[in-house]
Amino acid sequence: MERTAECCCGQAKLTIKDEPLIHVVCHCDDCKKRTGSAFGISAYFSDDQIINKLGAMNQYKIQNDGYEQLRSFCSNCGTTLFWHISVFKNIIGISGGCFIENPLSKPNIVAENQSKQYWFDLLGHWEESFDIKILTQPKIK
Ligand SMILES: [Zn+2]
Ligand SMILES: [Zn+2]
Repeated sequence: MERTAECCCGQAKLTIKDEPLIHVVCHCDDCKKRTGSAFGISAYFSDDQIINKLGAMNQYKIQNDGYEQLRSFCSNCGTTLFWHISVFKNIIGISGGCFIENPLSKPNIVAENQSKQYWFDLLGHWEESFDIKILTQPKIK
């Protein structure tokens, strides 16, 4: 199955095939700032799942607990569409909420529960299950 993630203005698009390696609801402060929302939805794919990238992007770097993240955002509307994290080789993170026409299925991981908004109860029963090894090991399918 192919899916396209798209920015707010529609000029930047990223098309991928098949399912994400992991699909995370993350409550960390950084995801809150990136999205301006209560949490981030991050879908990680291997680079060879990328079919097409379109549109002019700008980039910025952030440092986070010993790794670097390079984020790509639409140069027109500013939507962060995807990113690369230095410790995840050949893996692309994509903003899960940007898949509109063919949404991803349900996330399978929740991370950073300690930073969760106190009023947010959906998925409150989920166990925190993020394991960074999932992305640092080569080829998980
Ligand atoms: Zn845009
Ligand atoms: Zn996060």
